Amino acid sequence: MLHPTFGHPESEERLQVLLQAFPDARLGTPAPREALERVHAHEYLKVLEDLAEPGWFGSPDTIASETSWEACLLAAGCAIEAAETGAFALVRPPGHHATPSGAMGFCLVNNVAVAARHMQAAHGVERIAIVDFDVHHGNGTQDVFDGDDSVLYASLHQVGIYPGTGARGEGGATTVNVPLRPGCGDAEWVRSFEQHVEPAVSRFRPELVLVSAGFDAHEDEDIYLVDMHVTDDGFRELAQRCSVLAPRVAAVLEGGYNLETLPRLVEAALEGFD
Ligand SMILES: [Zn+2]
Repeated sequence: MLHPTFGHPESEERLQVLLQAFPDARLGTPAPREALERVHAHEYLKVLEDLAEPGWFGSPDTIASETSWEACLLAAGCAIEAAETGAFALVRPPGHHATPSGAMGFCLVNNVAVAARHMQAAHGVERIAIVDFDVHHGNGTQDVFDGDDSVLYASLHQVGIYPGTGARGEGGATTVNVPLRPGCGDAEWVRSFEQHVEPAVSRFRPELVLVSAGFDAHEDEDIYLVDMHVTDDGFRELAQRCSVLAPRVAAVLEGGYNLETLPRLVEAALEGFD
């Protein structure tokens, strides 16, 4: 809530509608700075921390202000707590486009990457799979872990939209990109997950699966250029399929900008994860 974006689709209202829909949600605690330093360059974090006034930040689609640093610590702290307890972190700003050295695509700090590195460093978890079903490719998460055999990154995303990365075969042996044509509905979405993501994650045998849960592949999403037809049932089904991929599964909110549907879609995913 501490990250105002002044009419941008990645708005404070996203969390407000979720907190209304889930009044029992527990408030998180901020991550320690060193948790962010495991993923992001010290110099970049310093610039974010020292911001004195609101403005475009890092890229021409991303806004930050003097309170964004506090919001980022809190979002990353919630992601860490979710990973530790097997919960769903309802956070903003989202994270999966944030690279080690910078902000982009509404993302400032890569929450899911911070949570994964924390689980390795503080809890000795050796093998983690990150499953990203946001409609956009998580280029930042891929950048963080590409070439690191201890973390598998698997993403389903619409081809030809922001950020333009995520071609099939891109990345190393522990990167699985599944680009999908525009217009996919539940059947194709779930089938692609079943054919490409499930076998790769199963072979990897992760101790923990972290889900980058974005809801912008929904049929009623209206964010720029997105054209997918996934329904509530599709999200429920994918969450259910994620829930059996490892002994522990946690989720972190990424995109999803329709304020009418977002609470309902999170609810559907929670039913699937259960
Ligand atoms: Zn997205």
